[in-house]
Amino acid sequence: MIILKQGGGEIISGASMKDVPNILWLEEIRKEDIASVGGKGASLGEMASIGLPVPPAFVVTAQAFRRFLVETGLEQKIFKVSENIDVENNAALEKAADTIKALVVKAKMPAAIKDDVRASYKKMAQKDLIVAVRSSATAEDLPDASFAGQQETYLNIKGEAALLAAVQNCWASLYGARAIYYRAKQGFEEHTVNIAVVVQQLVHSEKAGVMFTSHPISGEATTIIEGSWGLGEAVVSGSVSPDHYVFDQKTETIVETNLANKKVEIIPDGSHGTKLVPVDPARQDARVLSNDEIAKLAMYGKIAENHYGVPQDVEWGIVAGTIYILQSRPITTIGKKEGKGMSGQSKDAKILVKGQGAAPGTATGKVVIIRDVKDTGAVKEGDILVTRMTNPDMVPAMRKVAAIVTDEGGMTCHAAIVSRELGTPAVVGTKTATQQLTNGQLVTVDGEMGLVYEGAVGGAATTKGGATAPVVTGSAPIITATSVKVNVSIPEAAARAAATGADGVGLLRIEHLILGLNKTPGWFIANHKEEDFVKELYDGIKIVLDAFPGKTVWVRTLDAPTDEFRNMQGGESEPHEHNPMLGWRGIRRDLQSAEQFRLQVEAFKRLWKAGYEHLGVMFPMVSHPDQFIKAKEMMAGWGVDVENVTLGIMIEIPASAIMIEDFLRAGIKFASFGTNDLIQYTIAIDRNNENVADMYNPQHPAVLALIHSAIQKCREYDVECSICGQAGSDPRMAVWLVEHGITSISANIDAIAKIREAVAKTEKRIILEAARTRDAE
Ligand code: PEP
Ligand code: MG
Repeated sequence: MIILKQGGGEIISGASMKDVPNILWLEEIRKEDIASVGGKGASLGEMASIGLPVPPAFVVTAQAFRRFLVETGLEQKIFKVSENIDVENNAALEKAADTIKALVVKAKMPAAIKDDVRASYKKMAQKDLIVAVRSSATAEDLPDASFAGQQETYLNIKGEAALLAAVQNCWASLYGARAIYYRAKQGFEEHTVNIAVVVQQLVHSEKAGVMFTSHPISGEATTIIEGSWGLGEAVVSGSVSPDHYVFDQKTETIVETNLANKKVEIIPDGSHGTKLVPVDPARQDARVLSNDEIAKLAMYGKIAENHYGVPQDVEWGIVAGTIYILQSRPITTIGKKEGKGMSGQSKDAKILVKGQGAAPGTATGKVVIIRDVKDTGAVKEGDILVTRMTNPDMVPAMRKVAAIVTDEGGMTCHAAIVSRELGTPAVVGTKTATQQLTNGQLVTVDGEMGLVYEGAVGGAATTKGGATAPVVTGSAPIITATSVKVNVSIPEAAARAAATGADGVGLLRIEHLILGLNKTPGWFIANHKEEDFVKELYDGIKIVLDAFPGKTVWVRTLDAPTDEFRNMQGGESEPHEHNPMLGWRGIRRDLQSAEQFRLQVEAFKRLWKAGYEHLGVMFPMVSHPDQFIKAKEMMAGWGVDVENVTLGIMIEIPASAIMIEDFLRAGIKFASFGTNDLIQYTIAIDRNNENVADMYNPQHPAVLALIHSAIQKCREYDVECSICGQAGSDPRMAVWLVEHGITSISANIDAIAKIREAVAKTEKRIILEAARTRDAE
């Protein structure tokens, strides 16, 4: 990012002010120019530089914006207003933002910049050309430009005066309240933030669509083109079923043409927006693209793919026979094995969004987008729930739906955990599902491959299990020396979990029992409803204990991060934490909130007293043996015979893996790897962040080294060592764990059969190899 000295307007890094003009044309821009032309400007420039027919455009550079601020004296004024804003005070923030925006919009644009913009506009076309004016974020390190307020777009701008006003409006958009708040929270210096503006001929496409330069799943050299009438938005948003053409790059022939009935199109509304209108009957079934256009598009696709080195997802438009390439970005699904999910029948289906396959199964249904938990009433049986991220208070709605799709999250987020237990197919971390999909749209979700297809695909009758549907175990269960246990979070899944024949419950997450009530533990305490809280826990845990007679059930004490409590009654008392993952959760919170801990212990005590001796208690987020010792002392103080009940810990923090021997000396009866957290804390990858999901590596050597050494120590002390993180549901990891001496593995309900099989095979192989070695000696 360009760094500027406050007040002086002098650019310290990057090109100097003198070097970069007010205007850069696309042809002059390279991707290195992002600091001057922003992300949008740079990528358009690169596309133009390789000969793709990008609509003509120029960029009003970040340097022009900076000159504007300096020459109008605004830089100082803005600094004064923004210097003392308390961004947590909404009213003050809004007022400051309005003041700054008004200053920017009202200031007189310096004549030199004005002249440059006017001259460039003239150069684009002699008479008034209709253009789109778009902000282009210059801060490469901004993870979310829309939050930073750098996403403003003005369509259908015509004439010099309107253009100059639109440029100034884009500049002002940098100072929205949300944007200032976001930058303050992210630690950006207000006076270093810059913005560029792209001015581009608006292409009022008569026909438009998308193109995958290679097959999006198999990676084969077949270019798939989808097109329909009007603006490309109709195809991208899935409002219309487009024509579908397949072009074989090897033989350079069109190998498939499927014409669709195109009922609607999106066209400019004559003002500054667009509208959806019916297509006149004569064009509905007419073919959109000629053979020549298909071949030309495929050629541009190939140019883009060759240049970027990876298959591209391209947006295109055609006006009066001229093809324009509007956008090109990499396809991300290639490389995943086809057939693993929904079979080959999905090969030609249109993929609407992609994410991580978090809970297996497929389902077809209508999209219902939930932006606020208050709206979950709209969810009907069999719908496809689409939301940013699920909350515990959405669980009732999650029970009803056929599949779940989220923008955020990874394999261990709330949506993923609960969906797997409900047996509901889920795709998480799509980034854009809530924007790309529309309410009522018919889609098919493939929870194995992480894909959402348009329409009903592959006869994907819903294959969800449902929390109460039994899991058929088939023939006699395989007996393994390593125990194969199951994870449970919601009591209604207990019967299904037990039907797997699992050797016990290696993790019962009790926060789900409480969070589903929509009230925080603090609320129960503050409202003197302690007895209700204890009873809820008692009843919920009992259901699971009853489903597993004679088998151990490790009940974990509360471990919800404060942000998960926020939306519940009592949530207003939860502290605001910068990073709840590293915050006040698990045992550290219980030790400081004695009453909350005592109420949980009270429920355990009653269950032990009622004869449920197979209940063990597991402490989460333990980082030092003193915490375990303290917890034991507190329990003893509340009348628990701590030496004769089963108390253990989760190993979720590298500290506890490294200090495992001290824990063993302190008397833990078992330890269980919580790899979801252990991985994130070992390699510093946020488990719920879809942007780094591909770096979340359960088999990272450092993680494996921690697990291996802790297993060895547990074996020395003859203490059960287990795993209950998601990694334990991966058969490859199970093989490794058995080879390295784990005592038990606790997996998700859907994974039990394959884990048991992997464990059995590995055990047999180890025995066989040992026997052969003995024989050879
Ligand atoms: C873990 O961290 O691996 C674990 C099982 O706990 P949770 O996913 O609830 O944090
Ligand atoms: Mg954990």
